Amino acid sequence: MDITKQILRLNYAGLPIGWVSYQTAVRLYCNNQVTYECGNSSLLIRGGANKISGNQSTIVINSIVATKNYNKISYRDYTPLLTNTTLFKRDASTCLYCGESFSLKSLSRDHIIPLSKGGQDSWMNTVTACKRCNNHKGNMTLEQSGMTLLAVPFVPSRIEYLILRGRTILADQMNFLLSHVPKSSLIRKRYTLG
Ligand SMILES: [Zn+2]
Repeated sequence: MDITKQILRLNYAGLPIGWVSYQTAVRLYCNNQVTYECGNSSLLIRGGANKISGNQSTIVINSIVATKNYNKISYRDYTPLLTNTTLFKRDASTCLYCGESFSLKSLSRDHIIPLSKGGQDSWMNTVTACKRCNNHKGNMTLEQSGMTLLAVPFVPSRIEYLILRGRTILADQMNFLLSHVPKSSLIRKRYTLG
């Protein structure tokens, strides 16, 4: 595991609350905030040398750490921030009009009901579209354009959003997150074979 990887942080109840950098994880360990470890992988961090002994300090960080975070997690009334990256990941980098996959930079955010027609910039009114389809739809509604959506938009749950926000998710972190999303989750269907 290299240092660009993120550590999955859990609260006191063992529920995932966010991604932290390895530097933040080191601080949590040093401040005795880590209560237990849940991951199968770890990262060895080397610190400075001890002035007296000359020994270099090291610390082993687990990929998933439960911490003394007593904040209650609200699963209701939670609306994650809409960004292009998380929107494109929600739709598995697929244009929801033509069904083709594209690299992130070739995708765009399409408003199903155009903003000019009173549509909102929200998870439920936006889908991933390739630039060609987005241009073709232009300022029209679905009916006016004659285009159809291949999948319905949805608001990701708190844990689904963590999956969308992860930069490089390790297998044990992904399994842990998926164990907290329902079988019917569309994110689960898009990111696993089962
Ligand atoms: Zn398209």
